[in-house]
Amino acid sequence: MTSWIEIPDGSPFGPENLPLGVFRHGDEEPRVGAAIGDQVIDLAPLASAQMLDGAQLFAEPTLNAFLALGRPAWRATRNWLLDLVRTAGDRDTVEPHLIPQSAVTMQLPFAVADYVDFYASEQHASNLGRLFRPDSEPLLPNWKHLPVGYHGRAGTIVASGTEIVRPSGQRKAPDAGAPTFGPSQRLDIEVELGYVVGTPSTLGKPVSVEDFEEHVYGVVLVNDWSARDLQAWEYVPLGPFLGKSFATSISPWVVSLDALTASAVPLGVQDPPVLPYLRGSHLTNYDITFEVRLNGHLVSSPPYRDVYWSPAQMLAHMTVNGATVRTGDLYASGTVSGAAKDQRGSFIELSWAGRDPLMIDGKPRTFLEDGDEVTITAWAGPGLGLGEVTGRITPA
Ligand code: CA
Repeated sequence: MTSWIEIPDGSPFGPENLPLGVFRHGDEEPRVGAAIGDQVIDLAPLASAQMLDGAQLFAEPTLNAFLALGRPAWRATRNWLLDLVRTAGDRDTVEPHLIPQSAVTMQLPFAVADYVDFYASEQHASNLGRLFRPDSEPLLPNWKHLPVGYHGRAGTIVASGTEIVRPSGQRKAPDAGAPTFGPSQRLDIEVELGYVVGTPSTLGKPVSVEDFEEHVYGVVLVNDWSARDLQAWEYVPLGPFLGKSFATSISPWVVSLDALTASAVPLGVQDPPVLPYLRGSHLTNYDITFEVRLNGHLVSSPPYRDVYWSPAQMLAHMTVNGATVRTGDLYASGTVSGAAKDQRGSFIELSWAGRDPLMIDGKPRTFLEDGDEVTITAWAGPGLGLGEVTGRITPA
């Protein structure tokens, strides 16, 4: 598909992507836009000019009101936009509402309701099992029966570009007699895909795997910053806490499931078979490849397509007890790692807990240093990118 809007070669935002985000232009109120090439389509005035139902929702400072509308409205909006960007006759209508991306500041795209983080990559779970519990089986007995997850901290999900202050806390080396307090010495990243819930569910009523697309609007990139030394000391027996909750960065543009259709792939075989509520006739994953850069150097390319649990199974599992999802909920896949060394989605894996440093610019590197900048991008196909999530470490 082509568009009358000029799209630079290699742009993640081709004419069929049309991700939505919230931008600020000068001192105007933040509002909803769609990305195409290196432009933002200013949706509120465009939709008003076209007398579109619900045009005022695009003048909101978050996507939440739009997300709450549900799939028929999401689809209608996408079709309206697809039509406008490919029909040359609409140029005069749309052009006055294009703003260069270089002239805007992107905000957090939605007010985050609840945040759940899964652990759905077998390669990552196995690597961490080997590192954290070297004397036992890498995968715990429940891992292939349910998508393991925990509730994270929604209030510290931050927009891409937000500086990350090195967290302090308790840490204890295995051979030390007592813990000490101070800045984390093992600050790390986790490369993840995040699913954004639009349509809420009803208390007491599980969401079936078949209803995934009725509830989930789309995806964002997630960097789940992690302090490994804090995590290792605190996580038994109740799981991640302060080693994770200080900050989680997400990308500004939410790519819809409708845009991702072309990259959907069948879910891999699950053996042993899962319980009936986790089974589905068309369980899929997405063929998305991430790229991780440390200070501009490519250090890893984790593949999403081999993640063990599908997002529909994660949603079914997190509601099977009757818990609700709400508009603005975010649930993330957990760190994505492939089998090859340069496909690992965290520095604890890339440097094997610091024992096998990466060489970058002739310098051995393990965990993050003050001043480091990490940028994650991802692609589902040509013109179908997720944009980027970036963050820089500042001293404690
Ligand atoms: Ca995580």
